[in-house]
Parts: sequence; C-alpha cells; structure tokens
Amino acid sequence: MPGPVSYITGQLARLLRRERVSIKAEDGEASPDTAVPAGARTRMTAVLPREMEGEYEWSSDSDRITLEDADQETVTIVAGDEISSRGGERINLRFRSDDGSFESRRHVSINVIKVEFEKAIDPVYGHDEMDNEEGEDHHLSIKKNDFGYAWVNITGGANGGVLRFTTEDSSVAEVEDTDAPARRGTHFLQVIRGRNTNKGETEIKVRTFRDDGPVAAVLKVNVYRNKSDTVTVAKVIDSESDDTALSRPDFDLWEAEEIINGWYCECVGEIVIDEETDEESETMDIRFDLNGNGALDLEPGTTSREERAIISEFNPAGQKIVIVKDLNWIYFLREAASAGDESINLKNSYSNVRGGSERGYMKFLVVGNSYTLGTGDSAEEITVNGRNGATVNLSGPLSNDHGTDEGIMWPLSGLSGNPIWVKEGSKTEDKVRQTIAHECGHSIFSWRDVDSSTSLMHYSSGRTDTLLRFKDQPKKYEEGDENQWDTVSR
Ligand SMILES: [Zn+2]
Repeated sequence: MPGPVSYITGQLARLLRRERVSIKAEDGEASPDTAVPAGARTRMTAVLPREMEGEYEWSSDSDRITLEDADQETVTIVAGDEISSRGGERINLRFRSDDGSFESRRHVSINVIKVEFEKAIDPVYGHDEMDNEEGEDHHLSIKKNDFGYAWVNITGGANGGVLRFTTEDSSVAEVEDTDAPARRGTHFLQVIRGRNTNKGETEIKVRTFRDDGPVAAVLKVNVYRNKSDTVTVAKVIDSESDDTALSRPDFDLWEAEEIINGWYCECVGEIVIDEETDEESETMDIRFDLNGNGALDLEPGTTSREERAIISEFNPAGQKIVIVKDLNWIYFLREAASAGDESINLKNSYSNVRGGSERGYMKFLVVGNSYTLGTGDSAEEITVNGRNGATVNLSGPLSNDHGTDEGIMWPLSGLSGNPIWVKEGSKTEDKVRQTIAHECGHSIFSWRDVDSSTSLMHYSSGRTDTLLRFKDQPKKYEEGDENQWDTVSR
C-alpha cells in the first residue's frame, strides 16, 4: 500500500511530465517540419506549458544546418547544400524560467533533403533537362488541356508525403490534389496538367509540408496548342529507267509517321502522313528521268523538266514529299563545251554577285571539289579550279564534248520546299525517316538548321539523336540561337 510521500511524488512526476516545453511548427500548433530542402529555411517554435518568462536556448551539433535567433521563442533553421544521412540533424531546445521554478529540454530531428525532377522514360510530350546546368530549371512541355509526367526523386531521408505542388499560374498548368500517387516513396511519377492556353509558361514549385512552405524544386511547364499538319508522300519511280527503281518500294509510312511523331511530340507537334500510289502499287510510276541518268535532276532556282514531269502527275494540296532513288541539282551549261576546254560557262541565273561575294547557287560549287559533268557516255569528272560569276575554271582540259542539255551534277540528299525531295540512295529506313522529319521540320515547323549533333535539325545527316529542345541551340547558317519548342507557331 503506497504511503503519502510516494503518493505526492507520483503526482508531482505526472505534473512534471505534463509540464514540459514542446517543439511545434512556426504556427505553434502543427508538428515541426521533419525535413527542410537543401539551401532553404524553416522555423520552429517553443511552446510552454504555461505563461512564464525565461531563456530559450536552441542548439545543434550538425554542420548541415545553422540556427538563427537561437535565443528566441521561434528559431530559424537554415539548411546548407549537403543532404542528411539517415538519422537527420538533431535540434535541441532548453528553456529555463527566470524564477528558476521550471526547466525543460526537448529535441527533434530534421532531415536536409533534395528534390529533383527527372525525365520520365517515356514522357507524354517533351522534357528538357537543360543539360542539368546549375540554376536552370527543367522544362516540361504539355499539350493544352492534356497532361504530362515527370519523375520526382527525393534524397536525404524523406518521402513524397511531405511534398506539396503549387503553381504560379493555374490557367497554364497545375497539379491537382488528387494527382498525388497513393504511395509516394522517394521516387515517383507525378502528373502535371496543362490548361486551356495556346502558348504559356509557368512554374510548378515543389514545397515541403505547406502550400507556402519552403521551395525544394521548380519545374517550368510550357503548355502549347498542338501543331498538326498533313503531308502527302509519293514514292516515285520511272519504269522506263531501271536505275530509278527504289530499294524499298514498300517503305512503311505508317511506321514512319509513328516514329516521327515520337520526335515531334517533344514540341507538341505531329504530322499526318497520307500516301499517294498508283492503283495496286506501292509507288507512282512517272516518266521523269528524261536524261536517263537514273536520278531526278532538279535545277537550282527554277523548275527543271524532270521536276515538272513529277509535279504534273503528283500535286495534292498541302505539303508534299517525293521519295526517289537518286537526286541531284543540275547546273546546265549556257554554252556547249568541247573536248580540250579548260573552262565552262553555266547559266547566268546561277550567279548573283553582290558586294564582291557570290550569293547565288554558284557558291555551292566549291573550289577544289570534284563533280560529274554530263550524263551517259560523255559523263566525266571535273574539278573546280576557280569561279568567276557563272564561269567555272577547271583543273584540266575536258575529255568530251557537252551540249547545253548537260551540266554539272550536284548530289543532293534531300531538299526542303514543296514538294520536299528525299533521296533514298543507300539510306537506312531510319535515315529516310529522319530526312522526312528534318525537312518537314523546316517547312511545317519553321525550324532552322542548328549545330547540335543530337538535334533532329542538325544540318547534316550525321546526327546522333533526334532531340527537339526548349534550350536555345546555335543556328548553323544564321546568327543567333533557336528555341525549338517556342519557335513553332500555333
Ligand atoms: Zn536542314
């Protein structure tokens, strides 16, 4: 049976247990934050069991956080750049009343965390990581009134349950409360919704614990109206010229459309590919190879007879694409040339000298380069030794005579315009798709050639990837940079 002394001691112990200082969030009510983003700050408040005057003493041994106003009721925790390991950072509080009647200690832990956005393996639209440059936020593109995904990755010892997603402009993009995955571990896929805007950018901020909590990460969201256009493709052969036969007359344009749109969707764009063929055929048979060299010969700056032969048979509305086995520019002779000549005269229309420099098509005939002159039995290789207007000086005398229906053949891989001309040549199917996508990029999406070898719009076919980016890319043939997502007119 307990005596009176032990009874009083017990009551006192209960009283003392209740009479403790506690640590709360800044509002004095919510639980204190258990995590703080690296580089950010949060606050905690000491709550006393009853009103009294005294000394607050907040402290921490951690080198990952620093405390401000450590002798005040409310302390500010400033997180450094280094994230926590498992246990987190301990924060101690001691309160002593001025009259000495009360002293209490408490401690809590807080984890310094980092939140990063990562590109989804298969994003619905685009995700530009901006080369992960310091201070640059990732950009996500979304079609208006549609949604996209980004991975959220948390390190430092917290899970997704502590995060809140807020938007700067809910008329452009936002995250709905119900978009949070049911189980948010440290790595989860987050839905972001594009709203009803034709072109807009806003920021989705990831915060901790509260909608006005510290910012852990920012995602820039670009919402665009879809850019869609129909193109009609013809695979053209000339059955009277065997060399015009295509290696892949059954090249799959459905598959091409799907793969190309996988590239364009980064910019919220697409093309619809229609095909025109002869009845019960994969190709169109058009009598176009009039000089019998097995190639379609286009003429710089004007419409050649061979080109006219094709567009008189294949001329649907809208953007057209013609795939042929071989493709050239032909620079026609202005005057017939004879064996032994050491210079040849091309049509004057190819030359346009202004301010002392060639700005016409002659500029593509590079001094030192070799080209084929003529077709058939009289064809021969010439080397450009110099140029003067439309006159080409040769490195040696001609072996054959050449008429004005002949000229210098300049091999083309593809040519933009309408139609877009695509040479099949020895290209793989993937290269043919890339050529179609690149040339439609010029004519439908208004993109320029850029220098980046990972871009679909890299100026040569030596590209290593097919990216279309928000990040500015230096243009190849013009001054300045191009933001491919924003360039598209919607
Ligand atoms: Zn180009």
